[in-house]
Parts: sequence; structure tokens; C-alpha cells
Amino acid sequence: MSLHLKKGDKIMVLAGKDKNKTGKILRMNYKKNTVLVEGVNLVKKHMRRRSEADPGGIKEIPIPIQVSNIALLCSHCNRGVRFHTKLLDKKGKVRVCSRCQKEI
Ligand SMILES: [Zn+2]
Repeated sequence: MSLHLKKGDKIMVLAGKDKNKTGKILRMNYKKNTVLVEGVNLVKKHMRRRSEADPGGIKEIPIPIQVSNIALLCSHCNRGVRFHTKLLDKKGKVRVCSRCQKEI
């Protein structure tokens, strides 16, 4: 995967029916180049009743979306952006927004 995204990242959808939606990455699939994003690409699914606490019914659950359709959300720009990584002395790497040049 060319993008340096990881679980927990906030992203913005760039294309498709959920364009401009934002959400947090729940799971990555490096083989398929897809990500599962909270609240994005939802489908209605019939769930079986499992307990009092989990009565089932129709629930909306997210299905994976192509990585090419999303971008990391920059909190400064408030939009999906390209970014690059910058090496820091001993502290490791930070991701820098290519638009505003601030740390994401
Ligand atoms: Zn930015």
C-alpha cells in the first residue's frame, strides 16, 4: 500500500456516494487495498436476534472501501489531503500535510 494510513486515522471520502464524508479507519486490508471506515459505505443488513441486549433487526454496517477513494483528513485544512512523511531525530516519523505543511 503506497499510502501510509493506519487504523484509527481520520479520513475523508473523495469519490462515490459518500463523497466528503469523514470517519475513522476501523480496519485495513493491505492485500485488497481496501479499508473499513466508521460510518462510511454503509449497507443495511438484517441481523439475527442474539440476546435481550442485541435484539437484531436491520442495522447499518460499513463495508470496505477502496483506498484510492479516500484521503487522510487534515484537521487544519479540514479536507482530505496528500501528505508526506518527515523524519525526526530519534522521535521517529511524522506525517505532514502537503497543502498546509502542518503535522497531521
Ligand atoms: Zn493541511
